[in-house]
Amino acid sequence: MKNEEISTEPRWPLGLLGESPAAPVFHSSLLTPHSSLIDSHGRRHNNLRVSVTDRCNLRCTYCMPEDVTFRDRSELLSFEEITQFVRVAATLGVNKVRLTGGEPLMRKELHKLVRMIAVVPGIADIGVTTNGILLAEQAQALFDAGIRRMNVSLDTLDPGRFRELTRRDGVEKVLAGLDAAKRAGFAPIKVNAVAIRGFAEHDVVPLARYCRDNGFELRFIEYMPIGADVWEREKVFFASEILDLIGNEVGALVPANTDPSAPALDFNYRDGGGTVGVIASVSRPFCRSCNRIRLTADGKLRNCLFALDETDVKGLLRSASINEEAIGNALRESVWAKWEGHEINAKTFVKPDRTMHAIGG
Ligand code: SAM
Ligand code: SF4
Repeated sequence: MKNEEISTEPRWPLGLLGESPAAPVFHSSLLTPHSSLIDSHGRRHNNLRVSVTDRCNLRCTYCMPEDVTFRDRSELLSFEEITQFVRVAATLGVNKVRLTGGEPLMRKELHKLVRMIAVVPGIADIGVTTNGILLAEQAQALFDAGIRRMNVSLDTLDPGRFRELTRRDGVEKVLAGLDAAKRAGFAPIKVNAVAIRGFAEHDVVPLARYCRDNGFELRFIEYMPIGADVWEREKVFFASEILDLIGNEVGALVPANTDPSAPALDFNYRDGGGTVGVIASVSRPFCRSCNRIRLTADGKLRNCLFALDETDVKGLLRSASINEEAIGNALRESVWAKWEGHEINAKTFVKPDRTMHAIGG
């Protein structure tokens, strides 16, 4: 079935997942629409994902085409411009920043950007999401610069399957990167895997055992229609199926106390020793508690991963006299205009023009 024909009925038993998350509750005394990033549905945004490059050293089939044209480097925001944007966002309540890409570790001297963001007043938490290929070389520098939360994307431990999914070799580099991150002291270290039917069935259990043995939190992300490939609902390996597989083959799972605004639903092994999370973006969207905004590497503000509209902030950041108020207004207006939720499950869904690597996952 193609996505135009999607039914909105859930097609799997809720089981461990329970009902959809409730909308966050705001108290009117806390709502300050003129000084915070609140949208017209009452969601407060404190979480900024910054893409630092659209380049990548892998070509994951679910993310980007094999033949891809990257933007000229002059089109990318400089470290100073990114920091300036973060400074304004922080005055509006952003306190968490995640650096992503493309592959963020391909951006030269990323650790310098981390140091610049780390001293922005109000920023309490900086994380990075990486494919891990360059992590062994950079883990210590990133840790020393102030990053503590590390997400490493790894879909399989098998070299052949890694090549099939990423169109490149390198699983051993990712594993060495994870070792280096552990030695450097990152905590938590999360391993993110995309759950595609026909692939994930083979990798769920080995990945779960590997992560459990090494103290990494494993998180599966349901395959979303944001890559270059034709997405079909049948290709999504659902969160409930993943949890069943792990529960049966690796160890019984019990729900953990999860932050209601976090996209992942976390589960602990009943006998201790590890956490598994699922990001059920397709089967159980978390839009009602979404607190995220995104800045692309070329300076566009996106209020949703699936947004069809963008707001240019590069022009404002590159104007002769930087107008912080104008940047703040652009941010507020973009957030206010955020839709209620993505429409992956609706017949009306329209896939954004940008593929994942050019947005920043
Ligand atoms: N290159 C880095 C990496 O792979 O971790 C950061 C950027 S990547 C776009 C961010 C995350 O998006 C990765 O965890 C990747 O697996 C995920 N991703 C990419 N395409 C996806 C898709 N179609 N559905 C679900 N997740 C996807
Ligand atoms: Fe690169 Fe990450 Fe996309 Fe894979 S998912 S192609 S590693 S940006």
